[in-house]
Amino acid sequence: MIFYVSKEYSPSSVGLLKSSLPDAQIKIFHPKEALPDDFKDSSGLLIRSSFTVHNALLKEMSKLKWLVTSTSGFDHIDLKACSNYGVQVSYTPEGNVQSVVELTTYFILELQHQFAHQQNMLKNFQWKDQLNKSHEVKEKTLGIIGFGRIGREVCRVSQAIGLNVIVCDPYVDPILIEERNAESVGLSEILRMSDFLTLHVPLTNKTRGMINEKTLELMQSSSFLINTSRGNVVKEVALIEALKNKTIAGAALDVFSSEPLPRESSLRDLDNLIMTPHSGAYTQEAFERVSRQAVEQTIAYFSEGKNAAPLPPNASWYED
Ligand code: NAD
Repeated sequence: MIFYVSKEYSPSSVGLLKSSLPDAQIKIFHPKEALPDDFKDSSGLLIRSSFTVHNALLKEMSKLKWLVTSTSGFDHIDLKACSNYGVQVSYTPEGNVQSVVELTTYFILELQHQFAHQQNMLKNFQWKDQLNKSHEVKEKTLGIIGFGRIGREVCRVSQAIGLNVIVCDPYVDPILIEERNAESVGLSEILRMSDFLTLHVPLTNKTRGMINEKTLELMQSSSFLINTSRGNVVKEVALIEALKNKTIAGAALDVFSSEPLPRESSLRDLDNLIMTPHSGAYTQEAFERVSRQAVEQTIAYFSEGKNAAPLPPNASWYED
């Protein structure tokens, strides 16, 4: 049996796969380069979101039984096609949570205080008298759209620094939201009420473009938008207009409709936008955790026929 593992997996997880499946050929591939000739003969594939699995690829891979992505998003995989070709699919939804929560928290604080700008000022021999006083985030309202693994943890950490949290997630029982001292509200309310609005939804037909000209119009001119979910949840052209016209105060993006961010993207020209290169889960700890989980799930499948985290997920938003 041949297994191809994306080069993004940690060496120790690849070592574990080799030692646990000694009869298999474990090979590494680069997700952005031409695929090796025997790739199509793989029985198992271990990928991340930089590699897209579509119908045409699966059609060629007649031996493929198992596909695991060491990510929580899975919009890069055609799950219907996998089911048609009898390929078991798995993912690692827990492993990236902490890293994304840390980035989201940084975005909230950075949008409010502009610490990077302050650092640049100081390096340019300026002092605080050149600055407008900042405001604390304490008692401001944080809106969270998507109250899943990441959204709930963002809620907990943000409350610890004094933010009041409101949540929009039609698939979560409002009682669960209230139990966490947050308020459950609808989409238009969260857009109107939030000082910071952070997105933690999967990319689905319903969330694609959910932040657009119309929804941005409902946000306060003093509010900030944060997106660490998927680029296409936000209609980028509409966001660019809102930031240029200052109909919202600023935004922070980790994810983009096209990645890597194209050279010609006018997002780079905006001074009220901060950006990171889809690095929300790009930490040693998260990479090690999710690589290991994906490998352990692969071993469990090939030794006991078990899939601990099957895709599609058993979630009402997926069926919807
Ligand atoms: P999750 O599946 O645990 O939670 C998603 C939540 O979104 C669920 O509670 C669901 O009910 C809710 N939801 C679905 N559709 C909705 C809608 N139309 N309106 C409001 N809520 C809706 O997922 P998670 O682990 O919290 O991750 C969220 C997303 O973050 C992932 O799908 C992934 O795309 C993204 N992500 C990005 C990075 C990064 O590097 N920036 C890393 C990890 C995850």
